[in-house]
Amino acid sequence: MTGEAPFWEKPLHSLDRAEWEALCDGCGKCCLHKVEDADSGEIYPTNVACRLLDVTTARCSDYRHRRAFVPDCLRLTKGNVDDINWLPSSCAYKLRAAGQPLPEWHYLLTGSYQAMIDGGHSVAGRVVSETEAGPLEHHILEEPL
Ligand code: SF4
Repeated sequence: MTGEAPFWEKPLHSLDRAEWEALCDGCGKCCLHKVEDADSGEIYPTNVACRLLDVTTARCSDYRHRRAFVPDCLRLTKGNVDDINWLPSSCAYKLRAAGQPLPEWHYLLTGSYQAMIDGGHSVAGRVVSETEAGPLEHHILEEPL
């Protein structure tokens, strides 16, 4: 007899709140600023992080109260995950919403955030805080992190 599938293999709609939160790999890629060209509407990625992001760990320094400090911080839900087109292709929510498996480096599979950082799948140590960055236009990347 086979056991029940782990929650990260179940449909998103069946996850409880704790499982939903745990799905986040903590990559920090959704916490980076983007620059929009006012004329073309084109969006460019940057290496500039939200001021609440700890740039050494890629974790939010006040996740619980983040929207008090950053009102436009994205609140990803089962209802809007399909509508947000700028999430990175590696985002666990985006992958699971599309019925795809988590990447092999996801901490739920390896048990290690550090392995993910060491493998270059997190923004930890690779970005600068908006509190120090200066103009975003000076930090535009050719490819998103
Ligand atoms: S991009 Fe997705 S998996 Fe990565 S931190 Fe943001 S919500 Fe979590």
